[in-house]
Amino acid sequence: MFENSERTDIAELGEFGLIKHLTDNFKIKHESSIKGVGDDAAVLNFENKEVLISTDLLLEGIHFDLAYVPLMHLGYKAIQVNLSDIYAMNGIATQVTFSIGLSSKFPLEAVEEIYKGVQLACDKFNIDLIGGDTSASKQGLVISVTSIGYAEKKDVVYRNGAQEGDLLCVSGDLGGAYVGLQILEREKQIFLENPNIQPDLEGKDYIIERQLKPEGRRDIVDLLGQMKIVPTSMIDVSDGLASEILHICQQSEKGCTLYEEKLPIDPMTYETARELGLDPTVCALNGGEDYELLFTIKQADYEKLKHDVDISIIGHITDKNSGCKMVSKSNVVHELKAQGWNAFKL
Ligand code: ADP
Ligand code: MG
Repeated sequence: MFENSERTDIAELGEFGLIKHLTDNFKIKHESSIKGVGDDAAVLNFENKEVLISTDLLLEGIHFDLAYVPLMHLGYKAIQVNLSDIYAMNGIATQVTFSIGLSSKFPLEAVEEIYKGVQLACDKFNIDLIGGDTSASKQGLVISVTSIGYAEKKDVVYRNGAQEGDLLCVSGDLGGAYVGLQILEREKQIFLENPNIQPDLEGKDYIIERQLKPEGRRDIVDLLGQMKIVPTSMIDVSDGLASEILHICQQSEKGCTLYEEKLPIDPMTYETARELGLDPTVCALNGGEDYELLFTIKQADYEKLKHDVDISIIGHITDKNSGCKMVSKSNVVHELKAQGWNAFKL
């Protein structure tokens, strides 16, 4: 990467020059951002709202592989996955900080690419970049993002509010990001064995995008607001649907019944999983990185969203003693287990 293109040594700019160079193009959009980049701390004012804060740490070789992740996508995704946590609280994200540890092999042009992705995500989702930190790294690229947002106190949705009889809903479709990752991994292996072979990603755009360019579901938060639905519980699908359902059930002290036939799986995800010898249902349950919203609603709210094609009702909440179950397409009841994606299983 960047072998044949222009390379400017970061040392030429110095730390302060670099920060100024990277952040100069970012304009403040929100009244709540009183002071952004440029002082010892940013200053925010949310008046009487609840303030939501979430942080992620992304490490090269653990969370991303620069062999197939373009740097602009990495910047974009780092912001999106973090905003997703604010949306999962039913909040509106307004600010981010972006911190970066750079190995010496990184030229200025590479950092600029990352920041292009950051700016794209910030512009598209109406977010202010209000600070960060910059350091050298000996262990490859390190990125940390903190997002800040707000909600009215009555609108904040936690993981622990699900009640018996509530409907279990999920936005979008599941498993695509995982199957997309399997394709990228396959093409990387082929490339390592024979660098003359170009990656064959034809016809796989949707699932590759699901992996490389996920989007937080702010639109679902807006939609729920318009429908006047406050979910009883909510979480974003980062580790896999099964794992997230279990979080909601454990924290709410409830059980659930999930129906395999109701799982939303895109046809490209389904066919590609089959091609790779994977079970599409397992990909949807345990794949992870979908960044969809999983939430529960009262039955009384069903009428309001039953026609929305972007929301699937996949099950319901039961009492704790019934446990967490999945009814398969052939009507066999399985216990729901989470494999989840776990960075500690190396
Ligand atoms: P400090 O020495 O207090 O850490 P810095 O010189 O690192 O201050 O940061 C100066 C300003 O630039 C601060 O507002 C900080 O939030 C911001 N900043 C530093 N690094 C980044 C970055 N990578 N992206 C965005 N803003 C940054
Ligand atoms: Mg600093």
